[in-house]
Amino acid sequence: MSYVFDPAPVTSLAIAGESARFPVRRIYCVGRNYAEHAREMGHDPDREPPFFFSKPSDAILGGGADFPYPPGTEDVHHEIELVAALKSGGVDIAEADALGHVFGYAVGLDMTRRDLQGTAKKMGRPWDVAKGFDASAPCGDLVPASAIGHPTKGRIWLDVAGETRQEGDLADLIWSVPEMIAYLSRLFRLEAGDLIMTGTPAGVAAVRRGDLLEGGVEGVGTLRTRVV
Ligand code: MN
Repeated sequence: MSYVFDPAPVTSLAIAGESARFPVRRIYCVGRNYAEHAREMGHDPDREPPFFFSKPSDAILGGGADFPYPPGTEDVHHEIELVAALKSGGVDIAEADALGHVFGYAVGLDMTRRDLQGTAKKMGRPWDVAKGFDASAPCGDLVPASAIGHPTKGRIWLDVAGETRQEGDLADLIWSVPEMIAYLSRLFRLEAGDLIMTGTPAGVAAVRRGDLLEGGVEGVGTLRTRVV
């Protein structure tokens, strides 16, 4: 096989305790998956179920690298999230089988140009420019489920410049990880390498250049990135 130019490099994540890396295929993200966050965004979680959007795989920013403040916005928000990583996939996956497809978990940030998202919502436009910009998915190292199991409860938090901004508990996810995998697999063929960002708890707010973002999920790990 020859190409007219070199193909883009494979995006990958480090895996705790392993030298091999996890190759990323797609990034699916769920919106409004914690009731308190849905309310802070002006929605009623009892009437509007969660939904999905996606980011390009090369939006991953790994290894604790600095987060470059993106162009075209003056209101970039942090959204701390549990990330589930698939080692296999399929279509029409049953909830009962879903966790068998999960390789492991990480802590991620769904960085969002909130001003552009607001415009998109108002105009009925897609969210790509708000959610899918370069480096919009800082992500910590993956931890295999073989080591930590499948977390269903535990604190999820984000501190900005030493102050706690976001706080919640995985027990408050509206859709669980198996429910998200089953739902997604009825819309897309899931494959090994797919990541699912599982939604953010309440407390989203703007970041500024120089801010240190430090977050984590109890039982999974932590994530640090500085806004530059
Ligand atoms: Mn999000």
